[in-house]
Amino acid sequence: MHGISSAPAGAASQIFINNEWHESISGKTFPTYNPSTLEKICDVQEGDKPDVDKAVEAARAAFQRGSPWRQMDVLNRGRLLHKLADLIERDRVTLATLETMDTGKPFLQAYFIDLEGCIKTLRYYAGWADKIQGRTIPVDENFVCFTRHEPMGVCGAITPWNFPLLMLVWKMAPALCCGNTLVIKPAEQTPLTSLYMGSLIKEVGFPPGVVNIVPGYGPTAGAAISTHHNIDKIAFTGSTKVGKLIKEAASKSNLKRVTLELGGKNPCIVCADADLDLAVECAHQGVFFNQGQCCTAASRVFVEEQIYPEFVKRSVEYAKKRLVGDPFDARTEQGPQIDQKQFDKILELIESGKKEGAKLECGGLAIEDRGLFIKPTVFSEVTDNMRIAKEEIFGPVQPIMKFKSIDEVIKRANNTEYGLTAAVFTKNLDRALTLASALQSGTVWINCYNALYAQAPFGGFKMSGNGRELGEYALAEYTEVKTVTIKLSQKNH
Ligand code: NAP
Ligand code: MG
Repeated sequence: MHGISSAPAGAASQIFINNEWHESISGKTFPTYNPSTLEKICDVQEGDKPDVDKAVEAARAAFQRGSPWRQMDVLNRGRLLHKLADLIERDRVTLATLETMDTGKPFLQAYFIDLEGCIKTLRYYAGWADKIQGRTIPVDENFVCFTRHEPMGVCGAITPWNFPLLMLVWKMAPALCCGNTLVIKPAEQTPLTSLYMGSLIKEVGFPPGVVNIVPGYGPTAGAAISTHHNIDKIAFTGSTKVGKLIKEAASKSNLKRVTLELGGKNPCIVCADADLDLAVECAHQGVFFNQGQCCTAASRVFVEEQIYPEFVKRSVEYAKKRLVGDPFDARTEQGPQIDQKQFDKILELIESGKKEGAKLECGGLAIEDRGLFIKPTVFSEVTDNMRIAKEEIFGPVQPIMKFKSIDEVIKRANNTEYGLTAAVFTKNLDRALTLASALQSGTVWINCYNALYAQAPFGGFKMSGNGRELGEYALAEYTEVKTVTIKLSQKNH
């Protein structure tokens, strides 16, 4: 299946507005490639500002008072989300195939991780649709005061290429559960699963205009969303650089609400008393999963000095065994990087590691004649001032550092502008909880890695983002709180 080069039946490549498929107003298209073969999969309609305007108009109309969406019993919103999860289950193989073709990630990972996450997230928020309640607030006896948690309105979603469908569902499920409407721009490298979602949205029976999908480029279609005066909220996952642009555009336009899920340079701390087998395996999976293209990547491994040589030795064994190749081969653990730009950036950072004096234990090169594949790479003797210890690599590169004391490692782990996730491996409860409270990150995993649940919030401290996705917390990001205060008449008693 390595050579699959045409999209499976049912795949869409047009702009989805008002439950209909449209050509781009400019008449332009852009190609999407299979990164493991470098072949073009298909051309996709290239949306730009006029297409975004059309999508916003549809989303606004669908949100108007009296629209079918606004009048719907909230219980039925939940039913629609469950039905969407049912259709994703039905089409799971097709969706995982499309995701693998477009991203190069191993098919089994797309099927068992990305698609599983989509289904669970939709079901979780389906359950919330009829449970979003305000409060009655005691004031004085002459007044009645209560709050309503109302949908924000038209929400923009700009998504990345590393988990294209999952990052979309993380935004779409809470947004729809709260009664909003959506205009979505998927990453230009990976638009196909998001577009497939358009067909499912229509089949489920969401009213026209509730979900609109405009594929296109960031500086054009993406910027048209972030600067739009008629969009009330924007949810973004991607680089810190673009996250800043989006927040700036939101401030300069209409102060739309913004949630950002950005980068990370996540510490993974392995204490000398840790279960070493567990720690080595989790640190390995933590950094190499998804070709290293994860905002949660364990890209700074701090190992206590007593076990450092053994930890490095075992990590190298793991990396050397990692099977890199055809993402449709069931044995494959690692596919290609997403595109030439990312591939070049990773190799350049590997070179910087060599030049700055880190010890290259294995890998360090592209796999010859194989397009965008990079050998799993491990560096030891890494120090905090090296670029590989500071910059987000977003590739299959594991930098391993040494530490002596808990106080020291806390300082070093926190010495970064990021704060997305952290992991700790120890059997000592006191150490685990001390680190869990001292580490500046939105998530701390103890004796596990990438343990993500639809029920639990996810997001960053510092420059890793704003706001939280998932869990009950995300509902606050998609609702406005309205206070209604009623003065009781003193007459007529
Ligand atoms: P990116 O540029 O931040 O892309 C993310 C999304 O933002 C894409 O849909 C992109 O459109 C869009 N975008 C780009 N410029 C925009 C603008 N001016 N206004 C509105 N939207 C805009 O990320 P990238 O270039 O693909 O990757 C670069 C680095 O970002 C990676 O090396 C990694 O460090 C980080 N990254 C992080 C995550 C994460 O999960 N947090 C995911 C992906 C990448 P286009 O499709 O045109 O780019
Ligand atoms: Mg980009």
